[in-house]
Amino acid sequence: MFATLSDRLSDTFKNLRGKGRLSEADIDATAREIRLALLEADVALPVVKQFVASVKERARGSEVSGALNPAQQVIKIVNEELVGILGGETRRLRFAKQPPTVIMLAGLQGAGKTTLAAKLALWLKGQGTSPMLVAADLQRPNAVKQLQVNGERAGVTVFAPEPGNGVGDPVAVARRAIEEAKRTLHDVVIVDTAGRLGIDAELMQQAADIRDAVQPDEVLFVVDAMIGQDAVNTAQAFLDGVGYDAVVLTKLDGDARGGAALSIASMTGKPVMFASNGEKLTDFDLFHPDRMASRILD
Ligand code: GDP
Repeated sequence: MFATLSDRLSDTFKNLRGKGRLSEADIDATAREIRLALLEADVALPVVKQFVASVKERARGSEVSGALNPAQQVIKIVNEELVGILGGETRRLRFAKQPPTVIMLAGLQGAGKTTLAAKLALWLKGQGTSPMLVAADLQRPNAVKQLQVNGERAGVTVFAPEPGNGVGDPVAVARRAIEEAKRTLHDVVIVDTAGRLGIDAELMQQAADIRDAVQPDEVLFVVDAMIGQDAVNTAQAFLDGVGYDAVVLTKLDGDARGGAALSIASMTGKPVMFASNGEKLTDFDLFHPDRMASRILD
């Protein structure tokens, strides 16, 4: 992830080394290189354009400071811009004043939602909360079972519909789960919802119905970072159809170029909150824009 982008940018900055002052031509050449590096990393074109324009403007306007040489100054600007498009400050979960805090997951089938639900539950358990997982993905025959297996691995309670009792109605399941969480004193409820292979109106409606029924404190949009530019379209469709507060990127361990991560936060204006980077339940953490930017510029 980001390896190519990181290499390309580091080559670009090498060309600036030793320069006493940056000429207009130096800035133009650097901006061109940054543009190519971002496009190669599969960052969406509007994001690239805005990014490059901003770096250029700031590089032109920057004073020669005693502490930083021109190359370091450009790196600092690029770093700040990267942190900015990745969402700025680390976005942390907002807990409800009155428990339980309800977190709803939405996203396409295969995005890694069910796996993520268990990872998030395990992580929350580590933070001293008592989470409950809710199997409201009744579309995929195996999804309930998969959540139960993952929940067991995480040592977390899973609320699943019993046969004959509201099966087929994810809204009813989600509602009952919240009641059950209150009764059993679980202070965080994570609702896994159904995904489909592509965007479709019925899926969006179902997610919106669950959202209206459970009034989540946080809706998290889960997206596979490996799907590149498609991730941006999907992110926008879910924003329009369901709405969400933050993004979770999955499969960051895959061989992705990183464009999705950079594009989604910028295009939707929603921060990336968590990153999932492997199949193990512990391959998961808060997403820190500053650390990610530093890694890219390492
Ligand atoms: P869902 O349909 O959105 O619920 O997706 P699943 O949770 O079933 O995940 C789909 C596939 O992606 C499964 O084979 C998971 O093991 C795999 N997966 C999920 N998250 C990650 C991740 O961060 N890295 C990798 N490499 N695989 C993942």
